[in-house]
Amino acid sequence: MEIEQNVTVQCPYCGQSFEVLVDCSIEHQEYIEDCEVCCRPVSLVIDVDDDGTVTVQTRGEDV
Ligand SMILES: [Zn+2]
Repeated sequence: MEIEQNVTVQCPYCGQSFEVLVDCSIEHQEYIEDCEVCCRPVSLVIDVDDDGTVTVQTRGEDV
C-alpha cells in the first residue's frame, strides 16, 4: 500500500478536475485545498479504508 496517493477530485465551483496528494496513513482528514483552476477554497473530506481505498468528498463554502 502506498503511503501517498494522487486522487482526482472535482471542484464544486468551476467543475474542473484536479489532483490532490493524499496521505494514506491518516484514516480520516479534512482540510482546505485551493482549486488549481479557479483558486477558490475547496473543503476536502478524506477517508482511507483498511485496504487503502481513498474516498474524497469535496464541498464548496458557499455552494
Ligand atoms: Zn475550481
